[in-house]
Amino acid sequence: MNIDSSDKLKKLPPYLFVEIDRAKRKLREEGKDLIDLGIGDPDQPTPQFIINKLYEAAKDPANHRYALDSGMYLLRAEIASWYKNRFGVDLDPENEILPLIGSKEGIAHFPLAILKRGDYALVPDPCYPPYKSGTILADGKIYSMPLLAKNNFLPDLNKIRRHGLKKVKIIFINYPNNPTSAVATDEFYNELIKFALENNIIIVSDLAYSEITFDGYRARSLLEFEGARDCVIEFHSLSKTYNMTGWRCGWACGNSKLVSLLAKVKSNIDSGIFQAIQVASIAALKSDARHIKDMCLLYQERRDLLLRGLKSIGLTPKIPLATFYVWSKIPRRETSSNFARLFLEKANIVVTPGVGFGPHGEGYIRMALTVPKERIHEAIERLKKTI
Ligand SMILES: *Cc1c(COP(=O)(O)O)cnc(C)c1O
Repeated sequence: MNIDSSDKLKKLPPYLFVEIDRAKRKLREEGKDLIDLGIGDPDQPTPQFIINKLYEAAKDPANHRYALDSGMYLLRAEIASWYKNRFGVDLDPENEILPLIGSKEGIAHFPLAILKRGDYALVPDPCYPPYKSGTILADGKIYSMPLLAKNNFLPDLNKIRRHGLKKVKIIFINYPNNPTSAVATDEFYNELIKFALENNIIIVSDLAYSEITFDGYRARSLLEFEGARDCVIEFHSLSKTYNMTGWRCGWACGNSKLVSLLAKVKSNIDSGIFQAIQVASIAALKSDARHIKDMCLLYQERRDLLLRGLKSIGLTPKIPLATFYVWSKIPRRETSSNFARLFLEKANIVVTPGVGFGPHGEGYIRMALTVPKERIHEAIERLKKTI
């Protein structure tokens, strides 16, 4: 039998970390002590009270059956109360909130709800990969928006305006940003909403890192801004906030029509989140913010240690106010892939080459603050010796 993939799969961007992954595996097999700053996944465990709640809920047979596609009402109500408390934004649990099996699936499925063949999505470059793959799998086309240091890694909307926007239906926005760790200004958000309403473009706002912030910085929801209710769908996640990446729980919220269109796509694909996880997620959202504060302080200490170390070897990283990433410029004569390979082979340190997030990520590496301070210290010592 001759098995061939669909055209859409063929169109997906190539996976750019193949070579690094292979080199990583080889060094591991050789018994090398790798320090992995490549992974965007919290190293700390899920707080115990959430695990206890899951255990309890998993024992209840009522939670063993298919869940509601639209999620438990109690979860949606808790999300509404969390949003009100955190951002001062009122959401209707009945039609402005949709629980997701992690926000990634919602983000990747959303273009299926909106794009017609040949429509465009404005996608940041560099970016979190599902914005691109979701667009391609929905028969959409990608229009890249470079995120440049000189614009504080915000897209230049005026430049985009000049190119004609007739077939553009979606713009993906993600602040605090992965991979650049940049944050948005109020001014940018106001301009963005104006731009979207003028041009009939839906804003997909990815707020996965809103709670991972430092130095007193507080991230805002796009839904706090005037006009947003007409054009914004915002994606949120328990993954980074509560160290729950493996649990798969997030949500979409905002404009009710957009939320219902995504719900329609999903009702044809999945059957909701395991209900015991929904019950545990309610407990997470109900808890006070002490755990989050402690976690941010931990990341902040690691950040300061890594920044000091990187400066001591002559790199010039940006000081991140949010996310657990450090996005650092590398010497001009190297490509980011070569630089990552150098770190790996000379110091057994894994970092992510910026080009893996898009062509404009070239010239940078991303390092995750998801390893203990001792390991960051060790990494810096190795770099001082070898680089
Ligand atoms: C981690 C991350 C998410 C969250 O993914 P989940 O599917 O909710 O675990 C979303 N967006 C970005 C940019 C991320 O880095």
